[in-house]
Parts: sequence; structure tokens; C-alpha cells
Amino acid sequence: PPALVQRAEKQDTQAIQALDSAHFIHPFTDHGDLATRGARVITHADGIYVWDSEGNKILDGMSGLWCVNAGYGRKELADAAYQQLMTLPFYNSFFQTTNVPAVQLAAKLAALAPKVGDRSFNHVFFSSSGSESNDTNVRMARRYWDLLGQSQRKVIISRHNAYHGSTMAGASLGGMSGMHAQGDLPIPNITHIDQPYYFENARGGESKADFGLRAARWLEEKILEIGPEKVAAFIAEPVQGAGGVIIPPETYWPEIQRIVDQYGILLICDEVICAFGRLGHWFAYEKFGIKPDLVTFAKGVTSGYIPLGGVMVGNRVAEVLIDKGGEFNHGYTYSGHPVACAVGLANLNLMERENLPGRVRTETGPYLATQFEALKDHPLVGDAETCGFVAGLVLVKDKANKQMFDPDRAVGMICRGHCFRNGLIMRAVGDRMIIAPPLSMTVAQIDEMMGLIRRCLDATLADVRDQGLL
Ligand code: PMP
Repeated sequence: PPALVQRAEKQDTQAIQALDSAHFIHPFTDHGDLATRGARVITHADGIYVWDSEGNKILDGMSGLWCVNAGYGRKELADAAYQQLMTLPFYNSFFQTTNVPAVQLAAKLAALAPKVGDRSFNHVFFSSSGSESNDTNVRMARRYWDLLGQSQRKVIISRHNAYHGSTMAGASLGGMSGMHAQGDLPIPNITHIDQPYYFENARGGESKADFGLRAARWLEEKILEIGPEKVAAFIAEPVQGAGGVIIPPETYWPEIQRIVDQYGILLICDEVICAFGRLGHWFAYEKFGIKPDLVTFAKGVTSGYIPLGGVMVGNRVAEVLIDKGGEFNHGYTYSGHPVACAVGLANLNLMERENLPGRVRTETGPYLATQFEALKDHPLVGDAETCGFVAGLVLVKDKANKQMFDPDRAVGMICRGHCFRNGLIMRAVGDRMIIAPPLSMTVAQIDEMMGLIRRCLDATLADVRDQGLL
């Protein structure tokens, strides 16, 4: 509602930028660049838009950082935080204490998490982020095997180009070579297989279905190479997000499930992006028919209004670790933080009332898919696809031969620049352009976003032609 929008007072952008660059170390930022160019100062937001300190209104095609699922300006989330801050701003959940919002949210999450096959999810461990949750997963998976007398099962297999966080374990689980290059990562007993990226990794003439099976079998090859008795778990995002919205072929997940079942290894679904309606379901494992043992969540659980993350612990692990395992020596000060949990609860209630996952599944998601499909007629677009409310397109030099631009020319960044100038946030991952808009987005707003995307693609095409890159 407009009443919530506090218009930016005339902000002194340059003064803020100078202070910013003098004192604030930003995540994933080259501070030399930051000092010369100055950060964009975001001052307020409402619905699907954010405003900067210069008064520019920008359509946020990335939901902040894949997290503002319910959209900005939701007063009831602010009210929930205020009420809880006034009632009990903090108490810990260590040493046999608890608090009401944490209990209620854990029960709500257990109720929302569908049972698949013989897996049910009745237990939740809370943290404050996706990274912490994945660190928890590493410890839980190894503790599980210890308790079963198989402590040699330590290796966790992940995928190249995956993103699982920035802590030592999170960045190790992730498959980002740039992150591994800094700080001696990965830590021991974490290894990677290739990602199921059809556009780049399929052989000439290979069908999507065949490629999906072949990509899944890289897991089996890796398990056999290591020795199945040493493998603790496989971790993966149902759809890879930060890696560039890599949507696996339909044959991929069923084959992965066959392999983890055959060798008895734990399956960890990192749903930090994919859960809470992003793919049209409360949890994405349901969409793909995956039977995970542990599910990482964060971001959308509070629509990003306050930090909260956690792990849904399936019955297989819970029966060993929770029911029989004694004390698990692990926990964070803010595990089950009452204010974060109160906001989480209010957010899930709001999303349920407005049926945001259902809308994405049956209405806005399919509409976005049709619009993205139509982008394939653009001369620069080599491929375009969506899954629920994540979407990616790849900018190519030659569509027929799937030929990419020279990465040094950073065509994705040229496109990203046009997006910002035209009032759209779209992320560039190399030359893949990706979006993950708020789930509250209407059909009319999808049209508005698609108009902006086309305009930016045209401007990029003009630049690329001017620079003689085509
Ligand atoms: N896992 C996935 C799949 C993510 O996308 C992210 C964050 N983008 C993380 C983990 C890490 O979450 P956080 O930044 O909250 O630590």
C-alpha cells in the first residue's frame, strides 16, 4: 500500500557513497571498483519495486537476493516483529529452554513439508542463514554415520558451480572455483561432480533426457571412485540458482534418487532458493519427487525481512540423531530466535492466505514460462527457460552453433548495465541473465518486466553490434 512508502528525502548520494567506501566491507565486491564508481544506495521499497537515493524506481527482478518472496512493504511482517520484540526480543533455546514462536514455526514447517515415499519431516533445526544451515548439514550427516558405527563415511559430494554459502563448509560444498581459490578450499572430504547444464555440457545431438541420465550417473561414477562405504551424502540445489539458474532435465532427479538409494547415502536438498513457493511448491523436492533426508532452507522463510535459516530433518536422520543420539554438540546463539521465528510464521501465514505457491504453480509461473519461451526469437538469446519463478536466458554470438561471446567482453555485464539504466534488476552470471521475481508479481507486472527485458536485450544487441562483436 502506498501509505507504507516513505519517499526518499533528498539523499546526499555522494556523501553516503564516500562513507560506504571508507568503512563498509561488502560481500563479493571489488572495493577498488566500489571506491571509483560508488555503490548504488537503495533507500526504500514497496511491492516489487525498490528506489535508490537518486529517486530512480527499479523493478526488482531478483527479489532482493532471491528472498523477498512475498514482496516488499508487508506491514503484517513488521507488526509481527514489533510485537515479538516487545514481548520477548531474545531468549536462547539451549539447555532445555524454548520459546513460543520457534515452537510454532517448527510445527508449521513440519506441517507444510510434504511426505514423500518413506520420508517425513517432523523436525527442524534453526540457524540464521543458508551458510550456517549447510555447516549444520555437514555436521549432522557425519554425526549420523558416526552413530551408526560407520564413521568412515565422511565424504560429501557436491557439484561444480553449485552455491551453498560462504562459511568454510558452505564455500567448500559450493562448487565456485573463484571461492575455492581463496583460503585453501575445499576443506577435506568434500568433492564435486559436474552440473547438469544441458546447453553447455550436452553432446551434439544428445537429447535432454539422455543428457539428464548421463549427468546423474556422474554421481555414481564418483561414488564408485571414492568407495561407497566412505560416502556420507550428496548435496544439491533442485535448480541451481546462483550458478545461473541451471534447470536439470526431467530425467536427472529420478536417476540421482536411484543412485543415492542404491548406495544408501544421505541426500541433502539445498532449498535456500527453491523453497517457499519459488518453484510453485512449499518445498521443491515435492515438485521433482525427490526424497531428501535433509533440506536446507533460509531466505524465503521470512521473505528476507529478517535473517533466519534452518534444516528440515527427515525421519531417517531424526530417528538416529534426535531420538537416540544423545547430545548433538552444535548450535547457534540465534537458533530459534523468537523475533525471526515470529516473522517467519507471519510470512508463511501470509503466503498461505494469498496462495502464493499455488499462484506461481498454476497461474503466474506458466505465464512467465510462455513469455520467456517467446524470447528465443531474439537474435541474442541462445536459450531461455523458466522453472516456477526462476528464469534464465543465455546471450550468444551465434544461435545456430550455440557459440558464446568471448568471456572477456563481458556481454552479460553490458546487458546488466542496460537493465539498471532502464529500471530493472536482472542478474548476470557470465553471459546468462537471470531473474527470480517476487512471487506476489501479477500478470500485468510480468508484462511490464518482459517489456523491460526486451528493451534491454535490444540495447545490448545494438552495443554488441557497435563493438563489432557480432
Ligand atoms: N544455499 C543456496 C542454494 C543459496 O542460494 C545461498 C545464498 N544465495 C546459500 C546457500 C547461502 O545462504 P546465506 O547467504 O544465507 O548464508
